[in-house]
Amino acid sequence: MPRSREALEALPGVGRKTANVVLNVAFGEPTMAVDTHIFRVSNRTGLAPGRNPLEVETKLMKRVPPAYLVDAHHWLILHGRYVCKARQPLCTQCGVAAWCDSAPRLGR
Ligand code: SF4
Repeated sequence: MPRSREALEALPGVGRKTANVVLNVAFGEPTMAVDTHIFRVSNRTGLAPGRNPLEVETKLMKRVPPAYLVDAHHWLILHGRYVCKARQPLCTQCGVAAWCDSAPRLGR
């Protein structure tokens, strides 16, 4: 399997997000594969607001401290999948509500 972004993205059906997943999971690179969960959480919380995945990715790469970059995308995905859900975010059970831009607006 290629280890560079360019080589990965040259493969059929492989875009930036998939290349980021491979670089992160297979090779331990500090990449941020912005999927629907990360995109939503980043915008809702104000952590890294953006109009498209690349904008969110770029901001997350600047915002997340280097020591956490390898694992951050897993944590954000899990948070979006199980707590900050698309339709019914569980704000009353959320461990980061105090730092979330949307918690007061959602009234939870
Ligand atoms: S407080 Fe609510 S909107 Fe904010 S991150 Fe937590 S679950 Fe998501």
